[in-house]
Amino acid sequence: MKTTREHIKNILIDHGVQPSSYRIRILECLSEPNKHPTADEIYQHLLEDFPTVSKMTVYNTIDVLLESSLIRKITIGHNEARYDGAISEHGHFKCQVCQQIFNFEVDLSLMKVAGLNHFKVESKDVYFYGTCEECTQKSMK
Ligand SMILES: [Zn+2]
Ligand SMILES: [Zn+2]
Repeated sequence: MKTTREHIKNILIDHGVQPSSYRIRILECLSEPNKHPTADEIYQHLLEDFPTVSKMTVYNTIDVLLESSLIRKITIGHNEARYDGAISEHGHFKCQVCQQIFNFEVDLSLMKVAGLNHFKVESKDVYFYGTCEECTQKSMK
């Protein structure tokens, strides 16, 4: 089901964030499955609807959404920050062939870690790299 603008608006209000049209548009862009755009891609996307929007405004809007935990930042491959509208627990798989990033389900509570007693863990990220299903099949033909 595609997330409607009205639904996104309610999510923003629930998080105490003013539902400006930029914020709604960014969340809409990030609600598509397996979408992990860079800040620049989000900016290009917003330009379609708001030809006068500045890069600064878009970056600031992204920061507001990050601070409200409505989106999260991921850094996968080449230290390039990407943004993710799926804030539930999931891992990221980057295909080294088509460069796409896929979400996958992961239960981080089952991960065995040692040596971090008395450490305060603030975030956990799982990144896998390899070849996606489609690219694997293509290479076998
Ligand atoms: Zn691929
Ligand atoms: Zn994701």
